[in-house]
Order: sequence, then structure tokens, then C-alpha cells
Amino acid sequence: MRWLVCTLSVLTMCATVSPASARQPQASPPASVNQMPTVTKVPTAALPSPTFDATTATNAYMAQIPAAATARSDAYFEGGYWIVGWTFLYGVAVALLLLFFRWSAAFRSLAERITRPRPLQTGLYWFQYLAATTLLSAPFVFYTDYVREHQYGMATQSLGPWLGDQGKGFLLGLVLGGIVAMVLFGLVRRLARTWWIWGALVTMVFLIVTVMIGPVYLQPIFIKVTRLDDPKVTGPILSLARANGIPARDVWEIDASRQTTRMSANVSGLGNTLRITLNDNLLRRGSQEEIQAVMAHEMGHYVLNHVPKMLMFFLIVVVVAFAWLRWSLTWCLARWGARWQIRGVGDTAVLPLVVLLVSVYGFLLTPLMNTFIRSQECEADMYGLNAARQPDGFAQAAIHLGEYRKMHPGAIEEWIFFDHPSGYNRIFAAMRWKKENLQLFAGPASQKGPAGN
Ligand SMILES: [Zn+2]
Repeated sequence: MRWLVCTLSVLTMCATVSPASARQPQASPPASVNQMPTVTKVPTAALPSPTFDATTATNAYMAQIPAAATARSDAYFEGGYWIVGWTFLYGVAVALLLLFFRWSAAFRSLAERITRPRPLQTGLYWFQYLAATTLLSAPFVFYTDYVREHQYGMATQSLGPWLGDQGKGFLLGLVLGGIVAMVLFGLVRRLARTWWIWGALVTMVFLIVTVMIGPVYLQPIFIKVTRLDDPKVTGPILSLARANGIPARDVWEIDASRQTTRMSANVSGLGNTLRITLNDNLLRRGSQEEIQAVMAHEMGHYVLNHVPKMLMFFLIVVVVAFAWLRWSLTWCLARWGARWQIRGVGDTAVLPLVVLLVSVYGFLLTPLMNTFIRSQECEADMYGLNAARQPDGFAQAAIHLGEYRKMHPGAIEEWIFFDHPSGYNRIFAAMRWKKENLQLFAGPASQKGPAGN
């Protein structure tokens, strides 16, 4: 499920704010410890002048960030590197536990005793598997998703609602995962030699359907989705959409502040369900210029067809994953299949091994995935700057994003761990764009800050 969640959220641009303080006037000092500053005036070095220099302007923006905020953001984000590694190792440990103690084989045998039709046996196995892995992973998930998020001031949910969302996620996984498991195991049993090709295609179809129904049917399970009807906000956004040939009639809003302080906007869906969504944190804290800069970035994803391109990239990733599975499953089962009481690739008891092998593949692929996504994000940044012409609004957004994403990493660090360009690189891109378009900012309006209304 983690993979699916990652897939569905790749096209998002997020930032973080504290909703409690967000209701205060924008000029007020940060009330939350994790909050990045709202720059109400363009720094002098970033004002249009004959000596405008992109690097100097970028550094002037960076200088707006207090050292404590940078230290906190770095600690949060760098901790995330370890979480990537520990998530992988924890998952491997859980899978090995199920295999070595033959719990997986026991789940399969129990399912066979209870019911005869094989799809139902698969469904029953899936229920036991999901329940066991959810329980075994619970301490780790509780720490990373609840305790740590609260420690860094990102989460707004108390334990009850958080557990409620976990429960909904479990039920969704039970239904969707159950369907996928039944179809895939059915295929493997019928097509002994070519299952990996058909399996990859079925997985892709499932992924496309999930992306299509996601914004309309899946997201509302967790969060309230409404049409945004403040013409002051929607007017400029829809105008921007029309100017860019986007047939959008609505802008959507989600009440993300119920769960998190992160500010975000995204493009989701496919075909008829494709839409642009802002979350309420962005609406409350972002200036008009900032919101327009972020929305233009999201429109870049739309115009540049990033969702279909991402799916095509995934087709390759999934086909290679199935080819790897075909080879590695045979190899592993020849060695340990008997000891783990797994009868073959068509036996549901093989599932922990499948998950283990896919997570090894996914883990090794992390830098490649991040780099593919990051280059799309970079394209959307360039598109957004040209469309919105709000380099200072964009710089402000990059600073707000810094609340949970390290602002100035090393080049290799960014390549491996960043699925969006770093804050520093985003501000620099904005200032580089501004330097080449200084004539747009001549006159008294140029004194207006990125947060000026
Ligand atoms: Zn984006």
C-alpha cells in the first residue's frame, strides 16, 4: 500500500504551516515552532535593479530564514533518510518472520479449511496477511506517522481520529488489495509461464483505474473535498487556467488541516476526473501571489501531461518488477520453498516473499524514482514561473515548503532523497527567471512583497 500511496501522491507540491497561527494576520510573528517566516517584503537584493544578481537575490531570501528554523527543518528531513532505510528493514523483518515461522503457510492452510473456492481462499489469506502485517508494523507506523509528526508540529490529529483514519486505510487495503490478490493469483495459477507479463498489465490497469477514481471516490473517504467558491481566489486561478488552455471550471479544496499543518496543492485524476486541488492550509496562509505561483506550477503538470507520462514510466517499472519477481521467486523457492511450506508461485503463502522481493527492488529504485519525479517537478516549476510571472510568490512558497523539506542540501543528497527540487534551487530558479524579466517588475508595484495582498 505504501507504494500505491507514493504513486498517487507523486504529483503534489507541499508546504507546511500551523493552522492555529495561520488565522492570525500574516505580518504577525510565527506562533508555531516549526513555522518558516512569511516574507512580507521582497528583500532589497531581490528588488529589480540594474545590478540584480540571481545568486545574491537567492541568498537574500535564504537569509530571511532564522537559523533555528533551518536546523529544525534539516533535522526533520534528514531523519526521513533514516526512516526510508528503517521502513525497508522493518518490512523485510516482518516478511521473514511470516516465512520462517511458517505463519504464512498456516494462514493459507486455515483459509483452505474454511472455504473451497480458490478466489475466496485467496481473499481469506489476504485478510489474515493484512491483519498480521498491520499489527506487526503498528509500533513503527505509530512512531513515524503519529509521534514524530507531532514532535515536529506537523500533525493536528489527536489519537482517536488518527486511529480512525488508520482503520479506514485498513478497510480500503482489504477491499482493493483483496481484489488485486484474487486476480493476480488467479492469473499465476492459469498462466504458468506468461503470468509475469499479464500480471504486469493487470497491475497497470489497476493503477490507472485507481488514479482515475482516486480524487472522486477514494480521497473523500479520508478528507472533505469541496468546490472552492471564493471568487477572489478562484478568479485569478481560473483566468490562468483559461490562458493556458485548461478546461477547468472549478477549483477544489480539501480540509487537510484536520490531519496536518502541511500546505499543499496537487493535480490528480485522469481524463474526466483530472482536477486541481488546493488544501485549506495553503488558502489560509498563502498570499495571492504565492497561491498563483503554486497553482501555475500545478497547471504545468496538467499541460505537460505529467500524469500520463508518469503512468508510462510506471509501466516500465512494473514490467521490470514482474520480470525480477519471476526470476527471483523461482530462485528463492528452489532454496527455501520446502522449509517455508510454500508449494509454488501460485500458492498464496508466497505473498510475504513477493512483498520482500518487491521492496528490495523498490528500495534500490528510490533514487531513480525520486529523480524522475523531481525532473517533472522541475519542469512544472519552469512552466509555473512563465505562466504566473510571480517569482517572488514562488520564492515564498519555496520557503514555506522548507518547513518540512531541507532548504539547501548537497547535490548528491538532493539526487538521492529529493522528489522535488530543494528550496534553495527553487528560489534560485525564480530569481534567475526574474533577472531575465526585470522589465515586468519596474514601477511602484515592484515594492509589493510576495505576501502583499
Ligand atoms: Zn508539483
